[in-house]
Amino acid sequence: MDRPSFVIRPEEAESAAEKLGVSVLQLLPLLVDPAKPLARPPISKFHVVAVGLGSSGRIFVGVNVEFPGLPLHHSIHAEQFLVTNLTLNSERHLRYVSVSAAPCGHCRQFLQEIRDAPEIRILITDPNAFRDAADEENEGDGDGNGFVRLESILPHRFGPDNLLEKDIPLLLEPHDNRLTLSDPDIPNGGHTDSDTYPNLKLTALSAANRSYSPYSRCPSGVALVDCEGKVYRGWYMESAAYNPSMGPVQAALVDFVANGGGGGFERIVGAVLVEKEDAVVRQEHTARMLLQVISPRCDLKVCHCY
Ligand SMILES: [Zn+2]
Repeated sequence: MDRPSFVIRPEEAESAAEKLGVSVLQLLPLLVDPAKPLARPPISKFHVVAVGLGSSGRIFVGVNVEFPGLPLHHSIHAEQFLVTNLTLNSERHLRYVSVSAAPCGHCRQFLQEIRDAPEIRILITDPNAFRDAADEENEGDGDGNGFVRLESILPHRFGPDNLLEKDIPLLLEPHDNRLTLSDPDIPNGGHTDSDTYPNLKLTALSAANRSYSPYSRCPSGVALVDCEGKVYRGWYMESAAYNPSMGPVQAALVDFVANGGGGGFERIVGAVLVEKEDAVVRQEHTARMLLQVISPRCDLKVCHCY
């Protein structure tokens, strides 16, 4: 099978499944290996792929991304990439995921931010992983395709239910944080390209408005621009367990990897971060350090909002 794209439309999925004589559900694990070249793991050389089926019928691909020169906790895991890819494309639910290796505890935790997370079905294609859980499930009410409930690999979960009211929108649900820029003018200094920065600033603001930060109430968003003027965006997403949270730069880098045509991060030349000035959780220093290492030509501007 050809290398899949990061988002596969329902009709493409159905026609690929039909060609192979399988169902769309059975197609998910078959996409895992062909997607491995999309991963960027220069440190571990361990390619991880997570392929997810959303409620719209679209299939989404996530891969792991590592950053030489930075501490390991800045890495993007394939499942986090997948969830970010869903949010960037306004997908409202994740039903099934097929992953190449057993999800780490961090990713099992991050997935808890999705509504009805225990019901998400998961299939690990690594034949050595987790056969017992699959056997148990399929003996019971499993679907016979090898998928098991996420709950079976993360029992006794700690998640949004422990900290939030029931009616708070969760990660994949629509958010509008109603943020306004403190200073709507173009940031001073740096680039003189008068078209790029206002555009980046508005893109970062609109990203911040979609940020999922119910635990700290410190939303933030990032817009990046590459050397060809193409713009990418991403927003901060929190986890009830705090540490698995996804930073706004990483989220925007997911957009870059998915839609940037395969180029390296050094192609990123400009960035705007929008966050609250008095936020108790601030992204500025981390964003600056991260971009300095992976995109040395990148000029980062920070704009505050309220
Ligand atoms: Zn992980």
